[in-house]
Amino acid sequence: MTTKENLQSDSDRTIPWLLLADKVPLYFPNTAGILNQNSLSTDYSADFGGTDRFPPRAVLLPRTAADIVTAMRFSQQYRIPVAVRGAGHAASRLVLRRGGLIIDMRSLPIELSINAAAGYIDISGGATWAAVIRATLAQGLMPKTTVDWQELTVAGTISTGGVGAQSFWAGVHADQVMELELISGAGEEICCSPTQDAAVFEAARAGLGQAGAMVRVRMPLVAAPLQVRLHELYYTSVGQLLTDLRVFIRDRSFDTLLVVAVPRTVAAQRLSERNQRFLHDPAGADATSDWVFKLDAGKYEFSAPSTVPLASHQGISETPRGRLLSTEEFLFRAPPLMQRKELYAAPHPELILFIPDHAAEELIQATIAALPVGDMGGGPILLLPIEFGQVRAPLLQVPKATRGFMFSLLRVAAPATESEVSRLTANNLQIYARALECGATRYPCDALPLAPIPAAYWEHRRELQQRLDPAQVLAVPWSLSA
Ligand SMILES: Cc1cc2nc3c(=O)[nH]c(=O)nc-3n(C[C@H](O)[C@H](O)[C@H](O)COP(=O)(O)OP(=O)(O)OC[C@H]3O[C@@H](n4cnc5c(N)ncnc54)[C@H](O)[C@@H]3O)c2cc1C
Repeated sequence: MTTKENLQSDSDRTIPWLLLADKVPLYFPNTAGILNQNSLSTDYSADFGGTDRFPPRAVLLPRTAADIVTAMRFSQQYRIPVAVRGAGHAASRLVLRRGGLIIDMRSLPIELSINAAAGYIDISGGATWAAVIRATLAQGLMPKTTVDWQELTVAGTISTGGVGAQSFWAGVHADQVMELELISGAGEEICCSPTQDAAVFEAARAGLGQAGAMVRVRMPLVAAPLQVRLHELYYTSVGQLLTDLRVFIRDRSFDTLLVVAVPRTVAAQRLSERNQRFLHDPAGADATSDWVFKLDAGKYEFSAPSTVPLASHQGISETPRGRLLSTEEFLFRAPPLMQRKELYAAPHPELILFIPDHAAEELIQATIAALPVGDMGGGPILLLPIEFGQVRAPLLQVPKATRGFMFSLLRVAAPATESEVSRLTANNLQIYARALECGATRYPCDALPLAPIPAAYWEHRRELQQRLDPAQVLAVPWSLSA
């Protein structure tokens, strides 16, 4: 047990964690990091979802991997619920622990080691995509897949699965990982890969932090383009959009594909008079829908800007030659949800689905037809094509289909009241039920009040759980309110 004398002055370690028998106080062990048992617990009581608040007992800001080993062993010994936290951008209460311990991985020093010859980068546990992209672009390299908000941590994204605008050809982030180092819930330091301790490797990727804390991940790098040509195409019809997407994917016409649905009124403001008439095209199958789709299609340019004409399509385009952006500018574009404070500060009762290609048109059409613009509260609807056939991480539940889409209703509760959150959540559950019938699955970082990981997963892996987290302190207590 740790005595009061060896506590650090810059941490709140003067508060005993609990009283043992005979009222002997138990203090959190000494570490190089900072333990906060007061002010920070408010900041860490919610995640990006903001639909619930569950104050932890303490937050550890580790400075070294050894700090995490200490924290894991302490939590294991005294059965203290513990969460490994990155940027806290998952909305599904994954990084909340009522009365427990939060380990904020972002306080570890950022260490990035690029091996250009071998084409990979070693990334420390709390590093963000922003740090990785800046470091790799400086050497003319970049990760094969990226995210749309670079403040997320790489390890956090790998832990949820990770989808990017390249996922239609490159798969998900969790499958890019070549090797990783994990500190298990039991405090064991494990280096694993597809060929070394493969069972641990499988439990960690898309594992929602339930195997332990990743302190290093090795990801492949590819040559970065000099520039990216961005084409923005508008569609009033889901059918036409999906037809074009399928052709673009088949022909690999682009390197990145991402669709955002915008209210028809917003699209009207963005389009020139000449193009606005298409918005009122009575021939469009969805002419009465409140929503219009904007496809951002990016083409990597490796040398002088190409003169290859844009692949033929049915979308509406203001700039047939697209816009040229530097690769950094392209990757750091702020996603719609992060463009205005009132959008990211409010609660986010989000729904994020993986839908098989064959059900996409019907499901998307039915969903948006019944979705008043006000029910999104200004939040975006996103559509990202994914090659499900490439997904290998066993914990990432995707439809049994070769390809399909991530279909996200990134709602903002406006007004930010409990009743509005409940109303939108109830609507999400209805859409989810309909989607399940079509073979869809759910991305477990949305805000549905459902278990993010099938209970059966650990039931079939008791031995592995016994090694990684015998006291089950890392388990995600999804029904935190119970
Ligand atoms: C603006 C915005 C943009 C987003 N863009 C994308 C996107 O492009 N693609 C996408 O797939 N998702 C995206 N998401 C969804 C989701 O937030 C992320 O997949 C994930 O949460 C990002 O990592 P994080 O650092 O926020 O992790 P957190 O939310 O902090 O944690 C997520 C999970 O990872 C675990 N974890 C975190 N760090 C570690 C670690 N070092 N070791 C082990 N486990 C760990 C946690 O325990 C938790 O279970 C986005 C969310 C927002 C709000």
